[in-house]
Amino acid sequence: RLSNTSKLSDPATLKKSLIEFFDQFEGSKGEVKEGIEGCIGGTPLIKIKSLSEATGCEILAKAEFLNGAGNSPKDRVALNIIEMAEKEGLLIPHSGDTIYEGTVGSTGISLAAICRARGYKAHICMPDDMAVEKSDLLLKLGAEVERVRPAPIVDQNQFVNLARTRAAEHTADPNKPGRGLFADQFETEANWNAHFVGTGPEIYDQTGGRLDAFVSGAGTGGTISGVSLFLKQKLPELKVVLADPPGSGLYNRVKFGVMFDPKEREGTRRRHQVDTIVEGIGINRVTHNFEIGRELIDDAVRVTDDQAITMARWLVENDGIFIGSSSAVNCVAAAKLAKQLGPDHRIVTLLCDSGARHLSKFWANTEPIGGKNDVSLHEILN
Ligand code: PMP
Repeated sequence: RLSNTSKLSDPATLKKSLIEFFDQFEGSKGEVKEGIEGCIGGTPLIKIKSLSEATGCEILAKAEFLNGAGNSPKDRVALNIIEMAEKEGLLIPHSGDTIYEGTVGSTGISLAAICRARGYKAHICMPDDMAVEKSDLLLKLGAEVERVRPAPIVDQNQFVNLARTRAAEHTADPNKPGRGLFADQFETEANWNAHFVGTGPEIYDQTGGRLDAFVSGAGTGGTISGVSLFLKQKLPELKVVLADPPGSGLYNRVKFGVMFDPKEREGTRRRHQVDTIVEGIGINRVTHNFEIGRELIDDAVRVTDDQAITMARWLVENDGIFIGSSSAVNCVAAAKLAKQLGPDHRIVTLLCDSGARHLSKFWANTEPIGGKNDVSLHEILN
């Protein structure tokens, strides 16, 4: 009986098997990336074995948390925003030029990392109820961070409005070096376009064009719009499904064309009034990045916080995949869709960020995983 891995093999056999092991990874050999920007895109598509087995459908997830600058799909967007601004002559490195953005975290983290790499400054306005890991990380990346109370979009202090104002104040201030640039992820073409030229084509290539449905949550809407605009032009039969958390109006927008449920018009609680632990997706206003692809969204699924936590724990227990809240919502919606479509369909969704970014909120009150069969998907799949 072996009790110690050092007894596994003699050194020569071990060396031979290691060489064979690493030889499997074609394409990752001998390739040097040009800085962190070179590590953005080209993320793996992972078959989630446990969910595929449990549903009878093949459930595939694009591992966007493996983007190598800020570790989320927002790396693609941040890089596109900065490159487009550079092309238009709006940014000069090391001049004091500063990018301002309103973000719940991910876009800010991607911008802050790429700004460092390119000689710009980053100033991030974010709601103060987001997991503290995100603002801590932003500070460590050298960004200026303003955390504000969650507020409706008509409020000048709402985080997106504040970022726009701060950018204008910077440009108008003769005592500040450089200019202020508002990144404007909710409205800019650079957002959905990053997914139209990147995420969408990658999914198409990685599946060989063989997929039945695409499932995604939406914050700005850039991901679901950009991916759908690309994929539906290749695959008109593809079903696109929005995964939406509590308090978000997007579910209603897809189902009824308006942000509220017509049956309960005044009673609909808004995203900033709902105590959900899901971050990054769900919103109550119309944004260009959502609207540009909205007509391509065929259906919407509402996902509760409890279902998201159950799914996140299930994926740790069965697959060793540790994800954040929006990814968990995506996987719940993908599993529900699998039940609805029936066996033998292929569904693609996204894993947006790591659970490590959600330890203090989404993961905070969860029980440790006890062992096999600790977590059940019964409530989600029935
Ligand atoms: N997941 C996370 C963790 C996010 O931060 C965001 C963006 N706010 C999304 C998903 C949604 O992406 P999009 O803005 O492209 O709709």
